[in-house]
Amino acid sequence: MGTRRDFLKGTVAAAVVPGIAFSKVMEKMERNTGHPTVISTWNFGMEANREAMPLLKRGKSALDAVEAGARVPEADPKIRSVGYGGRPDEDGHVTLDACIMDSHGNAGSVAFLQDIKHSVSVARKVMEQTDHVMLVGDGAKRFALSQGFKEEDLLTEESRKEWLKKKENLSRKSDLGPNENHDTISILAQDKDGNIAGACSTSGLAYKLHGRVGDSPIIGAALYCDNDIGAAGATGLGEAVIKTVGSFLVVELMRQGRSPQEACEEAVRRILRKHGGKVDFQVAYIALRIDGEIGSAAIKNGFQYALNRGESSSLIDVNKLTD
Ligand code: ASP
Repeated sequence: MGTRRDFLKGTVAAAVVPGIAFSKVMEKMERNTGHPTVISTWNFGMEANREAMPLLKRGKSALDAVEAGARVPEADPKIRSVGYGGRPDEDGHVTLDACIMDSHGNAGSVAFLQDIKHSVSVARKVMEQTDHVMLVGDGAKRFALSQGFKEEDLLTEESRKEWLKKKENLSRKSDLGPNENHDTISILAQDKDGNIAGACSTSGLAYKLHGRVGDSPIIGAALYCDNDIGAAGATGLGEAVIKTVGSFLVVELMRQGRSPQEACEEAVRRILRKHGGKVDFQVAYIALRIDGEIGSAAIKNGFQYALNRGESSSLIDVNKLTD
């Protein structure tokens, strides 16, 4: 006869297993192989995809593709919310957040990194060369230099002038809210073998408090990949994404059988509900499931993502979620 302890164990298992098991949808899901896909946030995702897709077509891994894709806006001074040329914090420092995840569930991230252009590649080194997941600030920079990354000033003349002007009448409250001067590259890819990886990189909110870290280096917030299910990435006000662990939520909803579209919509709804339905900021999600299906949802109009299925990229407008 079983003991009371066995009985309790059985009860807990019965209560928990259905919640964590694959849904019937996922059990039957066929992995998309042979048809590489890359999806990236915003219009600069077009250029990122252009870099990533040829790698996927040549049989490179999804991990190589997302890193190469994210490096494109990081190096482009015209893109004022990622890497070199990014808008600085309130003290005039460009501080970067980035992360990367591979198809084995490995993750690396850097936060509050300064003077190193390719934060996504530093994040990959953290993942591959250390036993850690996340390095921040001076430690992240020291690690990057030890790995051969070059120290360089990321504040362009244009960003500096704009910051000086802004400083004259900087109000912390208003700059942390509806300010639209921020956009992250989140990039998800599926390679020829059907494996999935993701990356994300940003200079964060413009004129943020010195030391502020957003969602982009937080695994589960701006990015999450599970090669049994799919991946999700975020852009927008990082504080709202962190508080709802948004990308993890999207992947877990897909695990439970929601489509990528439904999962993104539910993650947006979660934020709306937490704010009593009234928000004056943007958050948007993209998702890619192992069968190649994608989804996206946003709080406000204006969000776009770039999708490439092997030929040319298309830029897709996402309307705000209405219910
Ligand atoms: N999520 C980024 C941050 O909060 C910014 C953005 O994507 O708009 O740092």
